[in-house]
Amino acid sequence: MRIVFLGPPGAGKGTQAETLSREKKLSHISSGNLLREAVENGTETGRKAQQHINKGQLVPDKIVVDIIRERIVKNDCKNGFILDGFPRTLSQAIVLDEMLKNLGNKLDMVFYFAISKESIVLRLSGRRICATCGANYHIKYVPSLEDGICDKCGGKLYQRTDDKLETVLERIKVYHEQTEDLINYYKKNGILKEIESESNVESITENILKVIDNASKSASFVNLGVV
Ligand code: AMP
Repeated sequence: MRIVFLGPPGAGKGTQAETLSREKKLSHISSGNLLREAVENGTETGRKAQQHINKGQLVPDKIVVDIIRERIVKNDCKNGFILDGFPRTLSQAIVLDEMLKNLGNKLDMVFYFAISKESIVLRLSGRRICATCGANYHIKYVPSLEDGICDKCGGKLYQRTDDKLETVLERIKVYHEQTEDLINYYKKNGILKEIESESNVESITENILKVIDNASKSASFVNLGVV
């Protein structure tokens, strides 16, 4: 199964992708994580990407597309994957369709995480991340037991540079300008599933799993010639 998670920053795509990848044995591919890794490793790609990330703007299509092209052909993607944060522009979506077509595949579903701007700002400005294991916290909603310290590994918690308020506002603006069009693109393709993303993490996971299970059931009916 090949799935895309589409939605504004802070909608919970990463958290849901982690759970779903465990439940359904799918690889979780986060374009943001891949880019941040490149930045940390000091690669040329990382150096080119960093300036855009820090400003809350999109990294040029070519850089991101190359990273994803390399990633989706790896062995752990054979059973399928969840793309989290990619595509983010219409041209990335078109290239992705082509890439998959060349591999004899296609996207099965695109989940659109619907959430208000107010909730995004609250979520992102309070988000903290463990520098050692990458675990996610929120100063109000998911606080660590000890302030600034990860419950899981004792690592230090930090705030992503692009989670600072002014960068968050820029990221939301960029989302409206460049990514929102994808909702219609996938709606037209008939594979868009909207997920209300204001509620708690568990009920969102439940809804996503329901949609996937219902789709698998109808696919089996079609294969059996029932419909
Ligand atoms: P994320 O972790 O998904 O919020 O991504 C963090 C940042 O990485 C974004 O604000 C962009 O600067 C960059 N980025 C991630 N994915 C993409 C993409 N598909 N296209 C362009 N830039 C991206």
